[in-house]
Amino acid sequence: EITVVGSLNMDVRLTVDRIPRSGETISATGLKRSPGGKGANQAVAAARLGRRVAMVGAVGDDDAGREITARLVAEGLDVTSVASSEQPTGTAVILWEQPESTIVIEAGANGDVDESFVDSRDSAVRAVTDAQVVLCQCETPLGSLAAVTRLATGTTILNPAPAVPVPAEIRDWFDVLVPNRFELATLAGAGEAPASLADVVAMVRGLAFPGDVVVTLGADGSVVVPRDGLPTPVPAVRVDAIDTTAAGDSFCAALADGLLRGEDLVGAARWAARVAAVTTTRDGAIESLPLAHEVPAALPE
Ligand code: ADP
Repeated sequence: EITVVGSLNMDVRLTVDRIPRSGETISATGLKRSPGGKGANQAVAAARLGRRVAMVGAVGDDDAGREITARLVAEGLDVTSVASSEQPTGTAVILWEQPESTIVIEAGANGDVDESFVDSRDSAVRAVTDAQVVLCQCETPLGSLAAVTRLATGTTILNPAPAVPVPAEIRDWFDVLVPNRFELATLAGAGEAPASLADVVAMVRGLAFPGDVVVTLGADGSVVVPRDGLPTPVPAVRVDAIDTTAAGDSFCAALADGLLRGEDLVGAARWAARVAAVTTTRDGAIESLPLAHEVPAALPE
């Protein structure tokens, strides 16, 4: 029912007291290696919420690639369209200055996932065409997004992360856009992220995006800006966040889950805020993603 077209990475996370200056060497206080990547995170997040999920992407013919694929299989994902590439598995080096991260990514095999990658695989074409919701991010080439908008018959959701100025001729074919405020500024070609809610809404309107937009605002929640109608702020849930990694990813997956349950966008965003809040109370990326029954029915806003 949900297909994710996106990245699969091996995350190498170093816990640091501070981010080193240019040219400086510092010691980490911890090391953690685990499967991640926005695509994989969003796919597993949706599966843990009880959805049938197919993943379209690529990993290297290496230990990291095999480990990630095995993990996705263990999570119940359909990995028929996860290809083995001649490039090494994508790698993310994460400097974790709790609770925030600074990240450097080497795309590796994810760079293979372009328009022809999707078009040349029957299983991928089918997974995109048949899905009720297709979720995309920007850790694979923009061509993968073009293929999705051409093939998809269901609802298409673009999380334009990391910040990439996705051209309007690709972007505008998506049904729902889910940027954070920095990604929104990049899409808008603005020098600075919008500060107030009014600034966020004005910047969204400036995009003239024909679909609906949900801007995530970290601990400030999110704002739903429908294609027609008034913007609705959705509060974050108050929790003690220890690691915000994958908060945005679980938000996007839960938004898709809520829409599939027949919720409107505001209802889906409220559900997504609860799921993402639980994610921030747990350490790590994939391992922090909650099962549906682990999301409390009532949480303080
Ligand atoms: P990204 O990680 O993509 O930058 P955000 O930081 O905007 O995304 O987080 C996505 C969503 O996760 C937010 O809209 C909010 O609902 C939830 N969230 C993020 N940080 C917190 C936090 N500290 N407390 C509660 N909820 C949070």
